[in-house]
Amino acid sequence: EQLRDAATAGGDVRLTGIGKTYGDFTAVHPLDLTVPQGSFFALLGASGCGKTTTLRMIAGLEEPTTGTVVIGGQDVTVLPPYRRPVNTVFQSYALFPHLDIFENVAFGLRRRGKKDVKKQVEEMLDLVELGPMARRKPHQLSGGQQQRVAVARALINHPQVLLLDEPLGALDLKLRRQMQLELKRIQTEVGITFVHVTHDQEEAMTMADTIAVMNGGRVEQLGAPAELYENPATTFVANFLGQSNLIPAEVTGRSGDDLLLSAAGVRLTVPRSRCATEATRIHLGVRPEKITIAHASATVPEGRNRISGTVADSSFIGVSTQYVVRSESGQEIAVFEQNMERDGRIAPGAPVVLHWNPAHSFGLDASQAID
Ligand code: ATP
Repeated sequence: EQLRDAATAGGDVRLTGIGKTYGDFTAVHPLDLTVPQGSFFALLGASGCGKTTTLRMIAGLEEPTTGTVVIGGQDVTVLPPYRRPVNTVFQSYALFPHLDIFENVAFGLRRRGKKDVKKQVEEMLDLVELGPMARRKPHQLSGGQQQRVAVARALINHPQVLLLDEPLGALDLKLRRQMQLELKRIQTEVGITFVHVTHDQEEAMTMADTIAVMNGGRVEQLGAPAELYENPATTFVANFLGQSNLIPAEVTGRSGDDLLLSAAGVRLTVPRSRCATEATRIHLGVRPEKITIAHASATVPEGRNRISGTVADSSFIGVSTQYVVRSESGQEIAVFEQNMERDGRIAPGAPVVLHWNPAHSFGLDASQAID
């Protein structure tokens, strides 16, 4: 209940012009970012992109060079960590090894001389499903269980915002997947704002309502997972969130709401609304699973983009078959086909036609480097 009170107390995070330099190195370029109250927000990016520094500036563990941090309407920019309405969970759980699980979770309450410790700790252990483990020591728990203790220990202080710095980084893949769902469940249950730092795009997409993709100390794009995946604004985002074909194309004209393109030696289209640039040299992005592959003689429905080619490579990977197709112009295009009812995959060397709905592709500025 108290957690729910914390949730309604207004745990939105507003960063205004927040930036960090170390000497003449800029770790985070001044950025504006609002994390809505009650959301599960992920800062996603490769190592060194500035996501941890951003999180640490929210926590008060790092002093910003410029800008302000406002949490729940209160300017906390110059406040030390313990005076901010936040708690941080780190990758190294930092549990007290000599205390049992109950006492680890109770620690913050006892230090502050709180009453009702037993009841609150029991509630919290129930939330993270560790009630029966209360009397164990940390070394008697698995990594995932220890991580849940760390979460319980942070939440019992009723923060308005929980900050998570790669909290699942030390876990193996299977446990990570389990804990992602677990953390998501806990966040939904307590309703407070979570800000989660990760370099794992699948993790961010599984857990977060909103993702800020960071690159080189900047936020490249902000949005819901599906929005970023379906409509990336930059080649970096297109490639960081899954795999994408990026076909060099030239805009040759317009027709209604579509741009007409010359690409891979043929005429293609893309909706203007899905083009992130006004440039005439673009990259036409299309994700491999959006493309249908068929024998060259197949009929292609009206209104689809189509490219003819030959299969250069095909690999069966269980759930799907992955093809590389070389177009007549020499462009290589990746295609993922779900293994449903097709009898046998198309063999390398076979002439094929690729086609897709133009609304499932996107246009990007071709002057951006392809990572
Ligand atoms: P990782 O996932 O590897 O932690 P990150 O995206 O979280 O990466 P940050 O830890 O925010 O990146 O670091 C951003 C950049 O700032 C990096 O290039 C890092 O080397 C640099 N940096 C971080 N802390 C310091 C420091 N105390 N002094 C100098 N440079 C630093």
